[in-house]
Parts: sequence; structure tokens; C-alpha cells
Amino acid sequence: MVASQKKNVLKDAKYIKSIDNNSLNKGRISHTKKVQRIVSTAVVLLCVAFLIFGGFNLVSANNYAYKLTVNGDELAILASESEAQSAIDNYLNQISDQTGMKLSYDDDVQIEKVSADGVVFASTSDATSALDGKLNIMADAVGVYIDGNLSMYVADEKTARTAVDKVKEYYSADAGDSLISIDVLEEVAVSPAQVELEKVLDADSVVNMLMFGHIGNHYYYIADSGCTLADVAAANNIDAAQLSKLNPTLNNSELPLGTEVVLAQSEPLIDVQVAKKVVGIQELAYKTETIDNTSLARGNENVITKGENGQEEVTSKVVETNGVVVSSQRLSAVTLEEPVDQVIERGVKIVVASRSNSGSGILGWPLAGNITSRFGSRSLGYHTGIDIDGSVGDTVFAAESGTVVFAAYSGNYGNIIKIDHGGGLETWYAHLSEFYVNSGDEVSRGDSIGAVGVTGRTTGSHLHFEVRINDVAYNPLNYLD
Ligand SMILES: [Zn+2]
Repeated sequence: MVASQKKNVLKDAKYIKSIDNNSLNKGRISHTKKVQRIVSTAVVLLCVAFLIFGGFNLVSANNYAYKLTVNGDELAILASESEAQSAIDNYLNQISDQTGMKLSYDDDVQIEKVSADGVVFASTSDATSALDGKLNIMADAVGVYIDGNLSMYVADEKTARTAVDKVKEYYSADAGDSLISIDVLEEVAVSPAQVELEKVLDADSVVNMLMFGHIGNHYYYIADSGCTLADVAAANNIDAAQLSKLNPTLNNSELPLGTEVVLAQSEPLIDVQVAKKVVGIQELAYKTETIDNTSLARGNENVITKGENGQEEVTSKVVETNGVVVSSQRLSAVTLEEPVDQVIERGVKIVVASRSNSGSGILGWPLAGNITSRFGSRSLGYHTGIDIDGSVGDTVFAAESGTVVFAAYSGNYGNIIKIDHGGGLETWYAHLSEFYVNSGDEVSRGDSIGAVGVTGRTTGSHLHFEVRINDVAYNPLNYLD
């Protein structure tokens, strides 16, 4: 396999392999008794030999050896019982130096006196090495419960608390003086538990578990050419499809050197909520004020003062969970630069006085077309508006902004729209085929309001258009542009 692992942000997890002095007490008591028995027996035998042979017949220590066995497996033969005992002590001391946990084992450990004939003695350190991995060591640890669920085993409560503090520190480090509060959302509790030492996590692994939900490496970094996602999956015993899902931006072709491949999704065991003060600059939007100008014709608008945004320094309370912002609340603001309000004047002047026929009025043409009948006296009686030629369906436009006050069928007018422009001014549009607006609608000058038709009393399709001021009909030509 050609991928190489790199350490995670935090240190790699390692299981603790250690033991301490106390651990041996159980085993030592039992085998010491056996040794004592053996020694006692030897002393008796020596005395008997002394009596039988009638003198000192020194038995050299070299004639005996001490065999160290664990669960029946012969690990080493040493020159003395004390060396054998030291080997066990040293092994356990080495491990205990790393943990401080009370340990025990339930293995059958024997130191047996045997003949030294032909024996090659092992040193104490050889025997110490030989013990590695042979003892089933149990630790008096604590179980860590997160919201009541057993999540892992650690050496002691302090280790668990320290790990939680480290995670809190990780997420609050950049807050500095602006930190308002920091909370772990879950309840973390510990309870004593005796477990195999291998199941007890070391301090760094506990932090990894709390932050990511798993221990050890979360990433592969491609170190050799020719490596594909499938290779990484195979090397890490991960389902290829699963790995693909975890790395949506990577395809299954050869990956460039240094590519970061995510091996596992983070599933934090605790959520750290950090609240902090954040100060930032924001734009202050300007307001727009509209002033009615009675001397400016209706439909006209002028910007008198151009609006300009200001600036303010805003202090917010920002809440993050595991480093992700979940809320932001404005606490205070200081204006750095006041915005300049925009002022617009709006023409509201209604021209009620009759004007000349030159067409310098204020209304827009509702329909482009020939005037087929003018305002005033005609053969069939007084004509209260003008008729503008048009085909059925031609669009009729509002002559000025205003409110539609009538849009319905009305006798000789047929379908008629009446728009109130304020100040007593109304415009009427008659014989329509269609309404595009309803009574109550606000319309702007030039809006499509209906279509030319032949409804009501009319001989052909045209628009009958009236201008009324305080309900008196005036010649529309005096008011049209
Ligand atoms: Zn008419």
C-alpha cells in the first residue's frame, strides 16, 4: 500500500500498557508462599544431608537456577530468586510509572527452583523483556459517562476532567478577553470500573474521543504516486463506497501527492458552546424622506439631497457550538458616521385651469390614434370627451398616476374605468373590451389599464376619453401632453 498516515491535530491514540507495584501483591503473595515452601523444604533437606554426611558439604548456589513461568509458559531461567522477582517488579514499575493506576493480574506466576545443570542464565533485564504482553493486567480505572452513556475508560476522574478542559480550551482559545461563557452541553460523569488495562485510554486519546468520536488518525495523506481512493479504502479496511462519500471532492482516479483523504467523519461526544463578544463595522442604511411639493406638477420627482450610508461599530454576542456559529445577538452599537437621509420632493400640483389647445397639459395620452370626435357640441348632442380611434384589444394606458375608483359596465359608456388623481381630477376611459385593473388599484402614469372595445353606446371600436375636474367635463386636449 502506498498511502502513509499522518498524525491528527491532536496526538495519536495509544493504549496504555502499564502496571504498578500494587499489582503484584496478589500474585506475589501466592508465589512467595510457594517459594517459601520450597526454601523451607530445601533447608530441611540441607539439614538432613548435613546430618547424614556428617559435615559441611557446601551446595554452591550455582547448582540451582530459578525458572520464571507465567500461565505455564517458561519465560526465563535466572540465577537467583531475587533476580526473578526483580524482573517482575521492574516490568511492573516501568508500566506503573506511566499510569498511577492500581493494577492487578490474575495470571499464574511461578518462580521455581530447578537444577542449574546446562542452564544458560537470563539476565534480569532479559526476563523483564520476556514478560512483555504475557500478563493479563486489570486496572482500577473509571468509566466516563456522557449524558448517562458509558463512552470510554480512563485512568481517573482527573484525566477525564483535564481532557474536557482541553476541548473547552481548544474551542475558546481565540476568544481571549472577549469570552463571555463556555459550557459543555452534555453531562460528563465518572464511575469506578475495573477493566483490562488495554481498554484504558491515555489522556490524548480521551481528548480525541471527546472531539471526534474516535481515536487516532482521521486523514491519509497520499505520499506515493499511483494511489487511488480504492487503495486507501483497502489499506484502512474501509468500505470503498463509504470512503467515497466521506470524500465527495475526490474521484477514484490516481490522487495527487499530498491529497488529504478523510477516513472518518467527526462525531463529537461533547458539544462545547462558547459565547463571545465580537466587534465589527457595519453600514448604517440611510432613510428616504419624501416631501410633497404643491408647486411641482404631479408625476415629477426630484432628489434634493442624495442619501449616503453611515457606519457603526456593532458589538454582538456570538454563540458557537464546536466552533460553528449558531447565533448572533446585537448587544450595542456606536455610530461612527451618521447616514445622510435622502430627501425627495414629489410633485402634487393638479392643473385645474383650462389650457390652450397647444397640448402643453399634464396628462399622458391613453391611446395613440386619430381623434375621430372632438369635445363639445355635435349633431347628436354635447360630447363630454374625445374619441380616439383604435382597434378592439389595443392597450389603453393610464393618463396619470392615481387610484382606480370605478371599473365596471355603466350604461352608454359600456365598460368604463375611472381614475382619481387627487385634487378633484379624474380621467375616464369608456367602451372598453377588457379591464386590466380593479377598483381600488393604485396605478402609475403609463400603466396598462384595459383594452379598446365596442361596449356601450358606440358605432365602432374607439376609446372615449374624458377629463373631469370636480365632476365637470373639460376638453381633454387642454390637458394632454
Ligand atoms: Zn365619445
